[in-house]
Amino acid sequence: MNRFAYARPTTIAEAIQAATHSEGAAYLGGGTNLVDLIKENVARPHTLVGVERLPLDRVEEQTDGRVHIGARVTNADVAYHPVIERRYPLLAKAILAGASAQLRNMATTGGNLLQRTRCYYFYDESVPCNKRAPGTGCPALHGYNRIHAILGASDHCIAVHPSDMCVALAALEAVVHVEGRAGPRTVPFADFHRLPGDDPTRDTTLQPGDLIIRVELPAAGFPSHHAYLKIRDRASYSFALVSVAAALELDRGLIVRGRLALGGVAHRPWRVPAAEAMLGGQRPTGELFDAVAAEVLRSARGFEHNTFKIELARRAITRALTTAADRTITP
Ligand code: SF4
Repeated sequence: MNRFAYARPTTIAEAIQAATHSEGAAYLGGGTNLVDLIKENVARPHTLVGVERLPLDRVEEQTDGRVHIGARVTNADVAYHPVIERRYPLLAKAILAGASAQLRNMATTGGNLLQRTRCYYFYDESVPCNKRAPGTGCPALHGYNRIHAILGASDHCIAVHPSDMCVALAALEAVVHVEGRAGPRTVPFADFHRLPGDDPTRDTTLQPGDLIIRVELPAAGFPSHHAYLKIRDRASYSFALVSVAAALELDRGLIVRGRLALGGVAHRPWRVPAAEAMLGGQRPTGELFDAVAAEVLRSARGFEHNTFKIELARRAITRALTTAADRTITP
């Protein structure tokens, strides 16, 4: 493990200054992924900027119905917060489908957005990896790629984003509040994570020194008709092979609007607006949901060991939408 400096700022301005004035700085929240990356020599920050003293630890309802989740709020505190349980149960369920109780007690909201792929080659310093060492190649392309992407991959990287929480945040159309050298700004969730393209080293659109301040949830939380379906190798403490966040608004038997996001299939939570548009104004039927699933997976491409994910995702989408449509919960 390399030596690093450790800063403990008490204000957001101090934190950004500490991060921007040190090349190779990283913010440290719960450390549930970053500390592993440092131990494995995958991440070698020269400076760690601890966020534990920053005032970003609240879940707050706004007067216009939106909800702000501070970047330091732990995954457990989000999932069990009464406002989240009542208004955004899809988010609570997605969080509780991930990791373990111990990890959820440590992991933060900001850190969840920034967690890195669990591609086994990425964590193994003895093999090439374009994400870890640019230009060295991607052994997953022709190696063991059972957990890898079926959508949005490139010839440079076929890794998937590992988060459950982010899949629900994508479906809910959350907004990320960021502050950096150029001041504060907001980033729609769909623009926060990026596809690998020819630069898989970057997982997000953040710039050096950017600090996640909070995640904003829109007022519409789809509390009555939603489902989070996670398919994985073990019943707990396992990353998704495929996950689906489905959210519907129904009125007198018709779908007013629907949202759908997939996890475990791409370098970012995967949404297809054209597929979601097919839901509006329709009756919730199996035929409709099959057609939506086909549209979502139109460009899916499997590799030697993961082609099964295409059929798995197709069935998971139909099942999640069916569950969401059937489930009527009084908030
Ligand atoms: Fe590295 Fe991406 Fe290839 Fe995995 S899939 S080995 S992270 S380049």
